[in-house]
Amino acid sequence: MFNLVLFGPPGSGKGTQSENIVTNYNLLHISTGDLLRDEVSRHTPLGTEAKKYMDQGMLVPDEVVIGMISGKIDEMPDARGFVFDGFPRTRTQAEALDKLLEFKNTKIHLVLSLEVPEADLIKRLVGRGETSGRSDDTEEVITKRIKEYHLKTTPVANYYNSYGKLETVVGSNTIEETFKALAKHINKYILPVT
Ligand code: ADP
Repeated sequence: MFNLVLFGPPGSGKGTQSENIVTNYNLLHISTGDLLRDEVSRHTPLGTEAKKYMDQGMLVPDEVVIGMISGKIDEMPDARGFVFDGFPRTRTQAEALDKLLEFKNTKIHLVLSLEVPEADLIKRLVGRGETSGRSDDTEEVITKRIKEYHLKTTPVANYYNSYGKLETVVGSNTIEETFKALAKHINKYILPVT
């Protein structure tokens, strides 16, 4: 198995690049943002709880997210590997993910961090907000999400860096150029399926 964490602030292109990576390398995409939005749209108890945090640009409590991920990983025992997008976002989540993967005799092999200047992030997200229908894509909530990222999620980069797993990639170029830069790192572990 090959397991990758795609890391970066809101608007850095994690969703787009995750799609590129899973298609080219035949991996499975796990996005906690997508999973949470799905719960919200189905009005499940988990979704109703999560929405309160999401609409304020705050992180959903760790135990909610970890439980949801754990179920997802178990649903797909034959995967070639996973791309985690938007997860882990706290050190507690990172440690929980390590335990879940250890239980499956595997681990996180690589963490790729997309670096994009803050002004670009806000521009991209406000633009997306005009078409996405996402209730958290307003300038006020976007600013809060970026703050929350620096406060709670930067320690996750330090956590993986301490294990030598973190690599940074410039995320402000075109989608194709960014994908090439990501692929260079991934190719050290697995090759694309053609
Ligand atoms: P973005 O990275 O652009 O903010 P996401 O779709 O990844 O978008 O997340 C949207 C919202 O969902 C976050 O602001 C947060 O409220 C919630 N969320 C997503 N993933 C997590 C997570 N791993 N832990 C806690 N909350 C999360």
